[in-house]
Amino acid sequence: MIPKHLVDRIAPSLEDLMISSDKVAHVSDFHSLSHAMLVLSSVKYSMIPVLSADSKYIGLLNMAVIVNAMTQLDGLDPEILDKTTVREVMLPIGVSVTLEDEFEKIFHHLVDYNFLGVVDHQQVFVGIITRRHLLKRLNAFFHDQT
Ligand code: AMP
Repeated sequence: MIPKHLVDRIAPSLEDLMISSDKVAHVSDFHSLSHAMLVLSSVKYSMIPVLSADSKYIGLLNMAVIVNAMTQLDGLDPEILDKTTVREVMLPIGVSVTLEDEFEKIFHHLVDYNFLGVVDHQQVFVGIITRRHLLKRLNAFFHDQT
């Protein structure tokens, strides 16, 4: 268990570690893959969250999933992009967290995931916590020790 006095110094508030939803690039589940492709190619992120019409965090999307959907036995079929929705091909979220979770839980999940989606008690998406943010905090903390 990570001692509380260390958690209080590294991440006193999980909200401070979070990038809020209004700054997170995302796609909606009802969007077509052609729209999603435009979004993904205009942001620098390889994987982005998928939200439902009522802003719930329900999936993940990356370019590989889109290319895979386009791939047919005889080559790529770009027409599929307009006929397929994000919901049909999105990846499962794996894990999500809330701002009430223990820091330790977030820490452990960030070993496996580049970022974690943060939701409220209704699964409504409120933001993400990235491994990069956590590592920056740890870096600052270690430097403070000297
Ligand atoms: P980073 O550590 O900043 O490279 O972020 C890790 C991952 O989190 C990125 O590859 C994206 O999948 C996701 N991510 C980070 N920031 C954003 C953002 N503002 N919008 C959407 N996804 C993001």
